[in-house]
Amino acid sequence: MRAAAGTPGSSRSVSTSTIPDDPTLAAIAEHQLRAAADRAGLDDGATAVLLAPERALEVSIPLRRDDGSLESLTGWRVQHSTLRGPGKGGVRLAPSVDAQEVRALAQLMTIKTAVAAMPFGGAKGGVAVDPRALSDAELERVVRAFAGAVSPIVGTDLDVMAPDSGADERVLGWMLDVLSPDGPLRPAALTGKPLALGGSHGREQATGRGLALSFAAFREEAGLDGSPRVVVQGSGNVGLAAALLLAEQGCRIVAVGRSRSAVVREEGLDVRALADHLDDGGDLADFDGGDELDPDELLGVPHDVLVPAATEGLVDEEAAGRADGARLVLEGANGALTPAADAAFADAGALVIPDVLANAGGVIVSTFEHQQGLLREQWTAEEVDLRLTAAMRRACDEVRERAAREDRPLRDAAFDLALERLLEAARLRGRPL
Ligand code: GLU
Repeated sequence: MRAAAGTPGSSRSVSTSTIPDDPTLAAIAEHQLRAAADRAGLDDGATAVLLAPERALEVSIPLRRDDGSLESLTGWRVQHSTLRGPGKGGVRLAPSVDAQEVRALAQLMTIKTAVAAMPFGGAKGGVAVDPRALSDAELERVVRAFAGAVSPIVGTDLDVMAPDSGADERVLGWMLDVLSPDGPLRPAALTGKPLALGGSHGREQATGRGLALSFAAFREEAGLDGSPRVVVQGSGNVGLAAALLLAEQGCRIVAVGRSRSAVVREEGLDVRALADHLDDGGDLADFDGGDELDPDELLGVPHDVLVPAATEGLVDEEAAGRADGARLVLEGANGALTPAADAAFADAGALVIPDVLANAGGVIVSTFEHQQGLLREQWTAEEVDLRLTAAMRRACDEVRERAAREDRPLRDAAFDLALERLLEAARLRGRPL
């Protein structure tokens, strides 16, 4: 780590020794929520209420494999808060999914919808399964069984499901069919569905677009003019969409990596060509527009902007030390940074745009999709983008102003703003929290 650039003793400079470096999402989200509760002066009882989900459902999903054998899978839907509106959040299909992870993701959704001022609470779902290890027919059976099992607690006015890692629009189309049991399609029952089923223009790129908008909002503050060098960790929907849009803003995407492969080109990668190569089933390592790189070396590639867009906890204190040139960190994946990494970046004077702000573009366009579903309308791509741009700019301005006023990191300001909105809703509804 390079020498601290923050003013010693200022609230932006934090000693890392007491700050957890646990990479699990449960630890990361709990630390962030507890810190916000402390700053808001909540006592232990109120903090416990804030952390606890309103409702958590665990479901068993029997999977009949194509060869006739039977397996038992487990799924969850957790509604953390509905104080500000129906539950909202994606469904994750991944082997790592468990009750704690889904609960933490739901907590972060509550904060994210409040920061973005969207009329929703926070929820999340998931199934512990590797979708790539299933045939299409097996995946469809799992997804339909999951949607059926959670159907008593989700839907248009209750809890609006959406995509997350491992769940694409095809998956959402099957779930929507299950959530339309009388026959007629209920387009507002979930978001992230295919356009032909009432999906929204721009939903698929929305998270990457939101990252690019938050970069534009903060680049000056981070002192990034000209063509800053960007390293992207993760080559999924979020990472690649962000890389394409950052390149359009004049950035040089010098390296892209995923767990087992990475590619580097100091002069900047042709991201469009790289995306096409991956679409055609290629790997990062065999892309001929750059040099193969050991994925462990990714963060050591000299850069100005780091976009951790793979999964939670991958950037710990040690990784933050390797990325010591970064002046701006755009947290694409939920919980990508451990609290210790967060503090290390702050000590190094890097500006961290937290997940709950940086990746809010997805849930913002989901909200627009829900509104289109209720109105039975389809807005143009231009209209959706105008609205997304306005919503992201407003959220970035509000968080920036609060951080400046209180001399706090952007994450603290975002959580404080969200908690204030939650407490206000609780007060006005006459609820404990
Ligand atoms: N899964 C996305 C997230 O973590 C989007 C959720 C949504 O669109 O409701 O923000």
